[in-house]
Amino acid sequence: MKVVKFGGSSLADGEHFAQAIKIITADPERRVVVTSAPGKRNSDDTKVTDLLIQYANQVLGGEDYTKTVEEIIGRYAAIADYFGVEHDKLQYLSDHLNQLPSQDFPNDSYLMATFKAHGEYLNAILMSIVLQKLGYEARFVSPVEAGIRVTGTPNNASVTPEAYNLLDRFEYSDTELLIFPGFYGITVAGHIATFSRGGSDITGAILARGLHADIYENFTDVDAIYVANPKVVVHPAAISTMTYREMRELSYAGFSVFHDEALIPAIEGNVPINVKNTNHPELPGTMIVPDKGFQPTDIVTGIVSGKHFAAIYLHKYLLNKEAGFTLRILNILAKHNVSYEHMPSGIDDITIILDKNQVNDELIDMVCNEIQEEINPDKLEWIDNYAILMVVGEGMVNRLGVTSDILDSLRDENIPVPIVNQGASRISTMIGTYDKDADRAVQAIYKRFFVQEED
Ligand code: ASP
Repeated sequence: MKVVKFGGSSLADGEHFAQAIKIITADPERRVVVTSAPGKRNSDDTKVTDLLIQYANQVLGGEDYTKTVEEIIGRYAAIADYFGVEHDKLQYLSDHLNQLPSQDFPNDSYLMATFKAHGEYLNAILMSIVLQKLGYEARFVSPVEAGIRVTGTPNNASVTPEAYNLLDRFEYSDTELLIFPGFYGITVAGHIATFSRGGSDITGAILARGLHADIYENFTDVDAIYVANPKVVVHPAAISTMTYREMRELSYAGFSVFHDEALIPAIEGNVPINVKNTNHPELPGTMIVPDKGFQPTDIVTGIVSGKHFAAIYLHKYLLNKEAGFTLRILNILAKHNVSYEHMPSGIDDITIILDKNQVNDELIDMVCNEIQEEINPDKLEWIDNYAILMVVGEGMVNRLGVTSDILDSLRDENIPVPIVNQGASRISTMIGTYDKDADRAVQAIYKRFFVQEED
């Protein structure tokens, strides 16, 4: 059995819906379908999820939301019209959307989550209506019925182990297509909570694990995952197969084709993932497979740079002799709910690299003041123009000279490298550089490993 998930751009309009249906029905193994909300039809368009966020904010702000609701309904109506779905069938969708403000919510965050989740909810219902109209046995399955139990905050939920027990007991017939909305689950108290943005990938992975799929096919709008971002490197090579851990390392530094949190259920269930293009389903796409038994063909699999990093740098003599020094710093960060990404250290120095998106100036001042008071370092600096490059590859394990090849390529381009961190994971090297040099650095490393020099 295959779980297939379609991203927002793959379900943005009637034509894309038709293409998705062609893919679903071309293979009888494709039985579990996960929908995103309709995405952008062109670069100036707005995703339905963003319209729903606007709708929620207008409700919260006591503003007029009529136009927004009309626009959202218009997106579904256009898809329904494409297939000649009778308008009375659409009535349920628009009634449902209109009555959202009159529901009770424990607080504004739950309201926001429920509004947001309706992009996928309505799209999954519409998909089942269209499939039925075309003569297929299709059924909408809600996260309540399937048991997608989540915990955490309403707009950043995580799946619970209980969800897998419930999914194990979920019954369905061999002949029907099951249509699930992506992006959200249900809390113990019965409220809707969404995963982080792009989280329909996570639903697909939960279902792939929970329903014991042989493969999780993730349909999106690119032919494959590329070695480097095509906006940075011209026509980069496509990755045909990569391991889960390579994908984890790359996605957290910026590879955004597949949601990094969605890898975990797939890893736990040992389900291979195939990222494919809805518009070119005949192409093989990229397979993401278990690490065990994987035979790399290249040294490097992917190169990515993330420009959303900053660092706290501390210098203190005899730092290495002070027991509990790092612990005290980390306690301060933990108290403020700030996580860190990397922490290279030396005999008298330590650099703590953070994701800039989770802090603001006020928080940084507070954290740095507390560190100064508690630790009294000789030097404390906030560096906010770092970029982190990850060079990742199973083929790098036990191979001599990879780091020097990377550093040589950067030296040839006069790119300064203030941080190198190799060893935490044997399959990656982290390079810290400055954000102004980040793209050139990716291009230089790509050239070194993937472009044949002419004699
Ligand atoms: N529709 C949601 C978003 O835009 C989730 C998803 O597309 O995966 O973030």
